Amino acid sequence: MNQTLRNLPAIHELKAEERINNLREKYKISERVLTEYLQTAVDDVRQQIIDGPLDRSPLDREQLTNNIFEKLIDKLGMQEPFNLERVINATGVVLHTNLGRALLSEEALEQLVETSRGYSTLEYEVATNERGSRHRLVEDYLTELTGAEAAIVVNNNAAAVYLILKALAAGQEVIVSRGELVEIGGSFRISEIMAESDAQLVDVGTTNKTHIADYEQALTEETALLMKVHKSNFAIVGFTEEVTADELIPLAKSYNLPVYEDLGSGTLYDFRKHKIGDEPTVQERVAAGIDLISFSGDKLLGGPQAGVIVGKKQYIDQLKSHQLARVLRVDKLTLGSLEATLKAYVRGRAAEEIPTVKHIVKSALMIKRDAEQFVNELLAKETGFTLEVAKDSSKVGGGTMPEVALETYVVRVTHETLSSDGLARELRLLDVPIIVRLQREFVLLDFRTVIARDMNLLVDGFLAVDERARI
Ligand SMILES: *Cc1c(COP(=O)(O)O)cnc(C)c1O
Repeated sequence: MNQTLRNLPAIHELKAEERINNLREKYKISERVLTEYLQTAVDDVRQQIIDGPLDRSPLDREQLTNNIFEKLIDKLGMQEPFNLERVINATGVVLHTNLGRALLSEEALEQLVETSRGYSTLEYEVATNERGSRHRLVEDYLTELTGAEAAIVVNNNAAAVYLILKALAAGQEVIVSRGELVEIGGSFRISEIMAESDAQLVDVGTTNKTHIADYEQALTEETALLMKVHKSNFAIVGFTEEVTADELIPLAKSYNLPVYEDLGSGTLYDFRKHKIGDEPTVQERVAAGIDLISFSGDKLLGGPQAGVIVGKKQYIDQLKSHQLARVLRVDKLTLGSLEATLKAYVRGRAAEEIPTVKHIVKSALMIKRDAEQFVNELLAKETGFTLEVAKDSSKVGGGTMPEVALETYVVRVTHETLSSDGLARELRLLDVPIIVRLQREFVLLDFRTVIARDMNLLVDGFLAVDERARI
């Protein structure tokens, strides 16, 4: 045993091993972390030798190094990067569907962790020791905020559309304007979801114009629902006409039929007061008399992925008791973070606390300040970058407010040896990938979506890319 212990290699000897250096490069760990891991591996092997059977023949240096090497691989294996990893969004697109749409508020994150680390009152009434309903967790907030009689939350807005059509119109007809038969990114088509739900689509009007008479003529004994769909990701301009709720609701009432509107984004916050877009709020649509409204939890609302349905109690009750409601139900992660998100609206603090709202209303001046700070930090170092702050515009994204151009400032970057494509690629390959916009020979960084905790990482990332490009 003593002989074996004497053969244990020293840390500095291990560090000189080529295969250990290769590992360090592969896993991108620092010198300090490598030393720490090697020390642990050596300690483990030493303990094994001490604990091991005494009659074993002594191990030589080579065998011990192999042992240590395996332990190091085990340890590093646990450090494999996650498949779902964080990135820095420097595109300026606030609701970037490919990058995860809405960021959660601090309170939503805390609530998510708090109610998931331990047990929770997901379906439990503390006062009576009885089973509770998960629907109740957010329903009061939703009715208070929107003025609706009742609410239910499902997995996402696509699920909300499906549930409503299935529960209220399966085997019957649903009238929709031809100008509203949208396809949302990720292959969600109103016509197809309708077919899937066994409701019969009756499209009326033309692409650019639909009149109230078109709806009226399409009404039959089989009609179950009049549906309106928010155009979301496109706009029809020019010679157009659309039937408003004011016209549709009296017609529906006279035939005793409900009107359902898929609002897509659905905002509780009035962006028009910042002169941004022309989105009606959910509460306005409820006040207009629409019977059922559905919208996404992770678009303009700025919460977790969810489909929120608000409306008249008689219809919401039908949805709640449908078998599909169980299939599409949300879990505690969604309900906990959604409740916290809604609370910020109740307090009137959405523009301060909800990242999505905050980023959309973020002033160009604030963005310019962040852009300049980044430029100054890089200019303080000697690099191959040429940087310039310039006026530009950002998009809301997520199929919301497609026509809105938010005034912003970007940093235009070129590098002495990298093309814009090459630079963008190097930035994507960083430990924390940086996702940018490209414009001809420039890489553009839009600081609308660069959050405070990303600022230092962004600078470090650029320095690392520059250093690599120089050697
Ligand atoms: C985005 C959108 C949907 C789908 O919502 P998800 O929450 O992504 O499922 C459905 N309808 C419209 C009009 C939309 O804009």
